[in-house]
Parts: sequence; C-alpha cells; structure tokens
Amino acid sequence: MPTGPETSYDPEKGRKFVFVTGGVMSGLGKGITAASTGRLLANAGFDVTAVKIDPYLNVDAGTMSPYQHGEVYVLKDGGEVDLDLGNYERFLGTDMTSDHNVTTGKVYRDVIESERAGDYLGRTVQIIPHVTDDIKRRIREAAEGTDVCIVEVGGTVGDIEGMPYLEALRQFAHEEEDDDLLFVHVTLVPYSKNGEQKTKPTQHSVKELRSIGLQPDVVVGRSSDRLDEETREKIALFCDVSTDAVFSNPDVEDIYHVPLVVEEEGLDTYVMDRLGLRNEALPRDDRDTRWRAIVTRERSGEATVALVGKYDLEDAYMSVHEALKHAGLRLGVDVDVSWVDADGTNVRENDALLEADGVVVPGGFGARGTGGKIDAVRYAREYDVPYLGLCLGFQMAVVEHARNVVGLADAHSAELDEDTPHPVIDILPDQHEIEDMGGTMRLGAHTTQIGPGTLAHDVYGATECTERHRHRYEVNPEYIDRLESEGLRFSGRAGPRMEIVERTDHPYFIGTQFHPEFRSRPDRASPLFVGLIEAVLERDVAGEAEVGTGEVEI
Ligand code: GLN
Repeated sequence: MPTGPETSYDPEKGRKFVFVTGGVMSGLGKGITAASTGRLLANAGFDVTAVKIDPYLNVDAGTMSPYQHGEVYVLKDGGEVDLDLGNYERFLGTDMTSDHNVTTGKVYRDVIESERAGDYLGRTVQIIPHVTDDIKRRIREAAEGTDVCIVEVGGTVGDIEGMPYLEALRQFAHEEEDDDLLFVHVTLVPYSKNGEQKTKPTQHSVKELRSIGLQPDVVVGRSSDRLDEETREKIALFCDVSTDAVFSNPDVEDIYHVPLVVEEEGLDTYVMDRLGLRNEALPRDDRDTRWRAIVTRERSGEATVALVGKYDLEDAYMSVHEALKHAGLRLGVDVDVSWVDADGTNVRENDALLEADGVVVPGGFGARGTGGKIDAVRYAREYDVPYLGLCLGFQMAVVEHARNVVGLADAHSAELDEDTPHPVIDILPDQHEIEDMGGTMRLGAHTTQIGPGTLAHDVYGATECTERHRHRYEVNPEYIDRLESEGLRFSGRAGPRMEIVERTDHPYFIGTQFHPEFRSRPDRASPLFVGLIEAVLERDVAGEAEVGTGEVEI
C-alpha cells in the first residue's frame, strides 16, 4: 500500500522499535497482531518495517517441509523465508528482503565465518557479546531509514533457542532511549469450564519474561472474546503494567479485520503515545483509510475454486489463499476455496473438484500427488473449467498436454520420473552441478516478456511482468516446437525460458513458472487471480455468483 499523505515526522529523530514477544503457546497470531499495529502506524503516516526472528537453526525456511512451518514465502531478492514475512508484506504494503528474517542459522554462520577469518583478534567467541551483538546489528540495519521497526520474536518466551534473542533485546533496551522502544507481549487468555477468563498462564509467561530482565510495556490477551474489565485489572496488577496497557485481541472471522479491532481497542494510539509519536502522527481524519475501505467492502455472491494440492493444511498454501481472497475483494465476491487431495483416489471424480467453478494447482516438490494434479489439469482442459497453474501447476499443465494432446506417451518432468522417454520438463542447465539444497534454486524476481495479443497480455495489460520464482526445473527447450500445437502456446518468456503457458481453445487456462501469489496484496490483487475469478463468475451461468460493482476506488 502506498505510504499515503505526507507526514511531518522527522526521521532524523531516530528509529523507534516495537518488540513483540509471545507467551503461553505459539500460533496465537502475534505476527498478525504486530502487522496490524504496523498497518495502523503506516495509516498515521509513518514509514513502518518489520523484522521476523526465527530462533531455529536452519539458515532459512527454504529447506523446511510445509508441515513444519507452513509455506515457504519467497521475497523479491530470492530470500526463502517464514510465512509471517508474507503477512508483513501484505499488511504493510512493502517489499522486504532476506535481511528482515533473522534466523539462528544466519547469525551463527556469520559469527563462525568471522571467527575463521580471524576478525575477533584472538578473543574467545561467545554468545554474549558476539552472538547478541550480531543480532542487534541485524535489527538496527533492517530498521535503517524507517520511522518504526516492528521486531517479532518467533516462538514462546522460555524456549531455549530464543534466549540469545531476548538477551539481545535486553541489551537493546539498555542502549536506546526509553521512548525509542516498546515491549509488547502477546499471550493467551483461556476460559475455564465455567466460562471464566483465566490469567494465570499470562502471569507465568510474564514472570518468565521478567526473569530474563524484560518488562513488558503492553500485554495483549488473545482470547475468543474481549477481555473482561476484571481480567484486564488482574493482568495489570500481576504483570506490573497499567490497566490501559492491557489490550484485547478477540477472534475475528477474517485476519484483515484485525487492524480494525486493534484500532478500536486503541492499541495504535497507545503505542504512538509511548513512543512519543503522537504529535507527528496525522490527525485521525487525515489518516489513510484505504485498508478499511478494501476489507469491509460489501461483497455479493461467491466463487468456488478447487485447490488441488498434497498438504491438507491451509498454511502450506497461505499466499495462494490470500491471493484468491484479494481477487475476491477486487471483484466484490467471496472466494470459497475447496480442498482437493491430489494424492487421493480418483481425483477426477472428487466432489469438491466437480462442484468448483475454477481449479488451481499450486507449486510443489516431489512425485507424491502429481498423478492427481495431472488428472485435475485434464479435467479443467476438457470441461472448459477456468484453470490457474502455479509453478508445478504450470509444469503439470505442460506434461498433461504432452501426454494427452500431443501424444508423447509417458512424458513427464525429469524431477518426477528420471527415466521418462520425454522429459518435457527438465532440470535447469545451471542446476546440474549443484549439490546443496538450501538457497540454490532459481529464486526471486525475474522479468517475463509477454507476447502481444495473448491471454497473458490481456490479463496483465502489459507486455512485461516481474514476478517471484522458486524452481529447479523448466520447460525443456527441445520440446517447445512440438508442445506449441493444438491449442497450447507459451505466451511469456524470459530469454530461452518458458514462463507462461496458455490455451487458445479454452476460456481461461493459464499457468506460470513463477509464483504470482507472492506479490498479490489486498489493494493490488494479482492480475492472474483476478482473471481466474472473473472467468469463474462468467462460467457460473446459473447466476449463483454475481460480479460486484467493479473495482474498489483507491
Ligand atoms: N518442483 C518444481 C521445480 O523445482 C516446481 C517448484 C515449485 O512448484 N515451486 O521446478
């Protein structure tokens, strides 16, 4: 989202930091709480950025299974990072870099490399100060040039892995002016059997935090409802904060409504007050209200899309879900995503697939479920069902065409069948010698040239697009001529690389080697997803879904 009207805030005054820790258990949505607070500060005219700390030993999220932490989010610089960075980009409307995801792997790798290079001049290298110094340096560098930097510490207070980070934050507080930083602790407030809000877990987690030397300035209680007055008072008393520093964060239907709840609670005002930003903030009436307008827009009708993947876990395809939602916001309809297990039996007869008016085959690795994905592509092609293939979904569309239209029996991707007689998808030439798995794919933003007069041209309204990539395999150049026949064409290319495939004999059939879902934002829906939902609505002749009144005015 653009930064909005000018602010009188003077960046020379120095950056402000909001540190967000979590208590009781993970998965409370502290990232969303933090991102929502950031959105509100941005609405008030501040330049906001974020850092996500992941205390695991992996250098980045790239080598992790989606079952562990959900999808691997890809940044424009090719960083493979935690999905929370996706939320920060979507909520703040900014593009981040790998430096905004700090992991223990990255910190230790740098410290050990410096030690090997002799940079420590004979000193014993220790967690304090060398590791903690590196952590503080990273946070300060990521905040450079912005007004406010939100720093979220992943995991829960008390985790052994998180200790060096909390110690670094303690030192940070020691080094910076008091009104330049704020500690927000997000915790769970459960209900007892008789419906009472219980504060004991919060008390324990704040006690743990204080034993490390960190005193929270603000406590946010995640609960199904708002916190009772009595609950807030109790938390304030036991955690040594004032009652007006205890905020509710109740469950909401849509995560995009969290900024609205946070604003209603007054958390943004409190944060600005405490950081001394009140005078520089735009007056309430002049604040950017586009987020509210977009997420509360009236929607009429519904579009049902089948997502054919192998992980029955929404987080594994988070950005795809979000991009579909953005397209719905743009067109004024709710998008209902139904899950189809690509590894299940007889995908072509799966009710969720048959009942949907559009099909998405997302990215993926490995052979499991690819038979089902190819079946889903075939179904979409034969029955004129709008289709969007993302990365592996693009590759499977090419394989399906090769097998069932061109007649190349057993054509496949060399990744999935080494012995295929027709490797229509093959390893990228520069990937042959690579042995390491981490950070070695074709990653990040690359520009695609779009052929004039194609569906891709129509959808993008441009002859070029720059989108994010994460793949090791591509269309085999030796097969391009044979593949471009009987309704299939490659409408987007990057030099010799095929980037977009589409069908000329179909209402909406398009696949991309890149991942457009990573650039989609609530106010800037990806054109490919908007095109898909438009086609879905057009196909829904029964009139169950209706297109809304057009684009949101922004
Ligand atoms: N496994 C495929 C490749 O490496 C597709 C990757 C993806 O879908 N992100 O090329």
